[in-house]
Amino acid sequence: MIPEVLDRLRREIAGVMTNPIRVAGVTCAICTREVDSGYQLCFRCRVDRSRFEVSGRFGLPQNLTSDLVVPLTYAVLGQQAYIDMFKYKDVVSFEAAQRRLTLLTALFVVTHGSCIDRFSRPVTGLAVLPSLTGRQGPHPLETFAQLLPQDWRRIQLTAALNLPADRNQRREANPAFYRCPYNLSGHHVVLFDDAWVTGGHAQGAAVHLRNAGADRVTVLVLARMLKTDFGPTAEFVRKHNLPSPPYEVTVCPVTGGACPQ
Ligand SMILES: [Zn+2]
Ligand SMILES: [Zn+2]
Repeated sequence: MIPEVLDRLRREIAGVMTNPIRVAGVTCAICTREVDSGYQLCFRCRVDRSRFEVSGRFGLPQNLTSDLVVPLTYAVLGQQAYIDMFKYKDVVSFEAAQRRLTLLTALFVVTHGSCIDRFSRPVTGLAVLPSLTGRQGPHPLETFAQLLPQDWRRIQLTAALNLPADRNQRREANPAFYRCPYNLSGHHVVLFDDAWVTGGHAQGAAVHLRNAGADRVTVLVLARMLKTDFGPTAEFVRKHNLPSPPYEVTVCPVTGGACPQ
């Protein structure tokens, strides 16, 4: 893409979006939220990881959750990026939000479209996280999914029937909430979602895909939601003065720095 076009796109989201921080001991190595001092992972990622640990090859512990989540931006409670994550689904006033998220996705594909492949191993499949709320018709997230690399072959992933009626129960990481009709043996699947709050939905689906045979699941999300009604998160947002610095397209969302070679 020519530099002037990139620059114009960048300016449009610069004051709204901001790159997630990936620094060991500062942010969670999986989901990029703040960590308690002395930890590499946040509390929730530690809990989900220990819940889905199985005995793997040579009796070594193997984890079925995704160990890499790639959020494209932080979205802080009350700020525009956070509002965008709801507005883009809104039929009335979604245009600006939809445009910014389209740009965010397109900039990722153009500048970092092969970074997940190079960081681990080539991506072979793409699954879009289904809604567990019984929403009818195509999910609004499909608009962005269509922009993702064409060689990530679509894998059908749907919500299971008979989900619990209780919303809090549905937030749990539970592989039984999903259905995938394929044997995914040998595949590296990118699981795509809009917003990561606790990661319950995505990690439940990641475990489902692993149980279906996937060798690796990487979660790609538009936004890592940061809820500042929790003291340590508010402190993290204040300390890093989010959402500044403005979104910088050259920062790799996979590494938090330079792109993997
Ligand atoms: Zn985490
Ligand atoms: Zn990159």
